[in-house]
Amino acid sequence: MKIYIQSNNFNKIGALVSKYSFQKFNPEYPIDLINMEDYKKLMNSHMKIFYRSKNECYWRKDLHQSFFPTRFFAPEKSNYEGWCLVVDPDIFAMKDISSIEQYINDETPICCYYDKSSYHTSMMLLNNTKLKNWNEEYVVNFMFHDKKNFDDLILLKNLSTINNTDVKQIPRKYNQLNTYHDDTIMCHMSRTNKQPWKTGIKYCKCELHNSKKCKKCNVSKVFGKFPDKKCETYFFQLAHEAYTAGYFTRPEIDEAIKNKWIRKDFYEIMTKSQNN
Ligand SMILES: [Zn+2]
Repeated sequence: MKIYIQSNNFNKIGALVSKYSFQKFNPEYPIDLINMEDYKKLMNSHMKIFYRSKNECYWRKDLHQSFFPTRFFAPEKSNYEGWCLVVDPDIFAMKDISSIEQYINDETPICCYYDKSSYHTSMMLLNNTKLKNWNEEYVVNFMFHDKKNFDDLILLKNLSTINNTDVKQIPRKYNQLNTYHDDTIMCHMSRTNKQPWKTGIKYCKCELHNSKKCKKCNVSKVFGKFPDKKCETYFFQLAHEAYTAGYFTRPEIDEAIKNKWIRKDFYEIMTKSQNN
């Protein structure tokens, strides 16, 4: 099994902390980032319209969350061989994840968490051999050319978009949202307006939720403090371990701060967290 972490420049540091977390507990799994900026067809779709249900949305390469279509590029990146785990850059391993392999079987194309009415594609276990239609060209055509309902794909609502109708459900502990418990295996810090590494950065409301860019932006909103203190502490402890292990450098932190990708006191908080 390979692991892929979706990323873009905004989320690079977080994605590298995530990468570190998976390698810390499972060094046996090959792991790689899927960098949004490497995909030309998607990058050329900046400001193009796509649809979620009947709602008109704009895909913008200049937003924190713009990486989201790249989850469907993982089978192509795997050369349609074997299985992979693909996760958002705000998902962090908390312990050995190898028990997830119990859900792998030849017939199932996709395993992920299912919550009441929809599938969560932020963490998917993919049978690459069964997903030979998933690649950059397919997703870009789906979204921007054919203008199909993107919910069919991102929420796996229309299972005719995949080759088999059987999506297997896996438990919450593999995609635990915004807190963790003793049994949590992966923690997903999904509160995009309050993520620990963004607290204090100013933004305009058009920078969330695929909105059209304002004619004149009003940068008056501020990314808030993450509600769960123990998640925030865990993130910065991991970040410090990742930094110490050489996953990213001080100049990379400084560049990310300058570009407002991460909070300006990131280095100080990370350094302090090692003592906690
Ligand atoms: Zn704006």
